[in-house]
Amino acid sequence: ENKNIIGKVIVITGASSGLGEATARLLSAQGATIVLGARRIERLEALIAELHHDGGKALALQTDVTDANQVKRLVDAAVQAYGRIDVMLNNAGLMPHSPLERLKIDDWNRTIDVNLKGVLYGIAAALPYMKQQQIGHIINVSSVAGHKVRPGSAVYAATKAAVLMISEGLRQEVKPYHIRTTVISPGAVATELPNSVTEPDIAANVRKLYEMGAIPADSFARAVAFAMSQPDDVDINEILFRPTSQE
Ligand code: NDP
Repeated sequence: ENKNIIGKVIVITGASSGLGEATARLLSAQGATIVLGARRIERLEALIAELHHDGGKALALQTDVTDANQVKRLVDAAVQAYGRIDVMLNNAGLMPHSPLERLKIDDWNRTIDVNLKGVLYGIAAALPYMKQQQIGHIINVSSVAGHKVRPGSAVYAATKAAVLMISEGLRQEVKPYHIRTTVISPGAVATELPNSVTEPDIAANVRKLYEMGAIPADSFARAVAFAMSQPDDVDINEILFRPTSQE
């Protein structure tokens, strides 16, 4: 359908559910080659079977984005199998909201390790190839929370604000190599993200909010497709979207 999507090799972290999974489906249907990474390999294999059944080209590798070597292995596998990497979608993330006074230090560390360091490891894995290719596209996932903090979301919002800064810094640095950078900042989208909240009372509140107002994950997939499908000399720097009903 779009010549800047057909045949493009896209690596997606956090592809076993939610936004990553929806993006894999949409881009595969539009003719992209998909390389999936996440920890739950059985979920990735089921998705691969579905994409192959529908005529898509795809492979999966079990990947924990908190380990830089595993992220590198994922990107290496993409290049080995398909000869290049056109798009790196750093999407894996979690959102274990809690007020700081509850001192959930393990949750803070996991959030920083996945949402912030995981994005950096994705950049580290993809950048050498893209520099060599003299073309590429790195897409990072921030959030409405990267623009606005609320009680209970300080650490999550901090990682997402960091992703905004990393993306803009990266943009300025890599434009000489014709590498595009996009950061996508969604509002409430219906995924498994509320399951990452470890505090039962907060999890119940987040679930209630999502059940009331979240929009389908396809909204995010279309944003990725929009950014990808521009001509190579057009870089969509940021996409901020949310449910029409969201504050
Ligand atoms: P889901 O919980 O549905 O998906 C999260 C994905 O991240 C899963 O595939 C999970 O796979 C993966 N993941 C988590 N930890 C790791 C890890 N250590 N290594 C590799 N993969 C990991 O949530 P979403 O799809 O909603 O989240 C995707 C991104 O979108 C996140 O960055 C989130 O912050 C962001 N976002 C989501 C919004 C929403 O409302 N849904 C709003 C704004 C931003 P597995 O467990 O198999 O490893």
